[in-house]
Formats: sequence, C-alpha cells, structure tokens
Amino acid sequence: MEAISDHSPTTAKPLRLSPSSAKDFLTCPKLFHYKAIEKRRTPPTIATTRGSLSHAVLERLFDFSNEQRQTPDAALALIDPCWQIMVEPFVERGTLEPDSIAAFTRDADDGWVGDLDLDSYEATRKLTSAADYRELAPAGSAEETEILEYAAKMITNYFRVERPWNFDPEDRELKLFVEIDDVPLIGYIDRLDRYVTGDNEERWVISDYKTGKVPSERYLDENFFAMRLYALMLAEQIDIVPHSLRLIFVGAEPKDAIKPKLVDQKLLDDTRVEIARIWSQVNASVASGDWPTNKQRLCDWCDFKAECPAWT
Ligand code: SF4
Repeated sequence: MEAISDHSPTTAKPLRLSPSSAKDFLTCPKLFHYKAIEKRRTPPTIATTRGSLSHAVLERLFDFSNEQRQTPDAALALIDPCWQIMVEPFVERGTLEPDSIAAFTRDADDGWVGDLDLDSYEATRKLTSAADYRELAPAGSAEETEILEYAAKMITNYFRVERPWNFDPEDRELKLFVEIDDVPLIGYIDRLDRYVTGDNEERWVISDYKTGKVPSERYLDENFFAMRLYALMLAEQIDIVPHSLRLIFVGAEPKDAIKPKLVDQKLLDDTRVEIARIWSQVNASVASGDWPTNKQRLCDWCDFKAECPAWT
C-alpha cells in the first residue's frame, strides 16, 4: 500500500493522525477527506475561539510564581495579552512596555517579529488563524466582548476547581510526535503533572482542559478518546506510563469538574488496536479513493454540508 502522503500533494507536511483527525474519520470518512487530505480549513467559531483563548491563559498561568497563582488576578490579567497574540501574533520588540504582562506573555509565546521565521509553517498558521479570529471578532465588537468575558468566567471558575498555587506542572502544551506500529501520530497534551505519593511512588497524570459543558455519563467515555491516545503516545515516546487521565471542565461546579480515568495495560492495548484499525481504514480509502459519507445529526454543524454528496 502506498504511503498516504503520496496522495496529498497539497499537504505541506506528511500526514499524521492526531486525536482530532482520527475522531473526524470515525465520525465521517468524507469529513476526514475534506480536512486532512484536501487540507480544507474550517473557520473558527465563537465557541472554539473562546476555548482557545481560555487554553492559552491556562497554559501561560504557570509562567507566574506560585505566589502569583494564589488568586485569579494574574491569570485574568493574561486574557487581554493572550487575545492580542491570537489576533496579532507578531509585533516589533520595543512596542510594549518591557516589564508589562503583555511583553512577558509575548516573550513566553515567541510573539515578536524575528523570533520565528515568518515564512515558517508555524508562523503562517498563526497568521492565518489571526486573520480568521479578527474576521470573526473585529476589535470592539460584541463578539470580541463575548469571547473575552467568557474567558474571564472560565478563568475565575478554574480557581474554584483547582489550586494552581499548590503544584508546578511538569510540562504544558507538550508536543507528542511518534510512530506506533507504523501509525504516524501527533498530539499536544495540555498539562502533564508528576506527583510522588506518601509511599514514594512516582505518578504521572495527563490533564486536558475543557471549556464546554460536562457531558452526561453516557457520553463521557467518548471524551477520553484523545486522552487514551495521549497516554499511549507518552508511553511510547518518552517511556512514561501515566497513572491516570483527567478531564478538567474548567467552567463547571467543582464537584463535577474533574473526571478522572485510571490508565492500565488494557486501556493502552485497546487504544493501540483501535488506532491501527483507523489508520488501516484511512489507507484503504486513500488506495481506493472512496471516502464514504456518514449522514447524521452532526451534519448540521459540518462546514462542508453545502457541498457534501450526501446532501446535494
Ligand atoms: S455533511 Fe455529514 S456526511 Fe457530509 S461530510 Fe459532513 S459529516 Fe460527513
């Protein structure tokens, strides 16, 4: 079977499966084709943008000292600088007060002209997203206000859910880039923590922030799909088998906000089999050129419905 990257001439980089692209394939192979093979972009929505902003703030929060993390004040002060980086990723050094939070945040984010090659894939991606965010939420618009206010609500509530002054994450936005049984995978872990128990046992925990509603028990397991894959990738890439996974619903009531799941060998083995099966099906579709549609309720939210053969 030919490599999938041979069939994707518009692909700037060889195709890798991420948890979200694998999920797209499971949802609908045609949707995967639009996004992963044709590289069609899906514009951000208010919901995805306010989620991205909240994630950016939660990542940068741990750049502050434990003392500064004792109240939401410093984190709330990050919202505007993080948003400015989203809508204008690069500015000239010297345009901001050197000691300001805005400059501090750009230092941490390489948000200066010259820190990142502006022709690089990474910079181009940031600039393209920035244009989309600005189109969605022009400066001073009601949409921009809604995004900023929602992020403030999330961050304020987060301090009811966790005590970020009490621990130092081992890593944040950790990039995983690994092949497992010839399946090329990529993913980013929101936060990786390491604890030592009273019995001197080392425990690693993967945490993923969610800014949406807590799903019912019936749908909760689906939310662990990406996390299970992260656990497998972490075990393979840096030989760390996490003790557990935690979904953190940042805006929820504290008693409902943290959903844990223990990691065991069966979970890793099942995930390995599952991802190999998905990759094999992807390659079968590449070879045949057949990307079946899967007409369903979610089609109403699909960016490609207007041109999808299932609906035209
Ligand atoms: S509209 Fe539905 S069937 Fe068509 S690509 Fe989107 S999810 Fe698939």
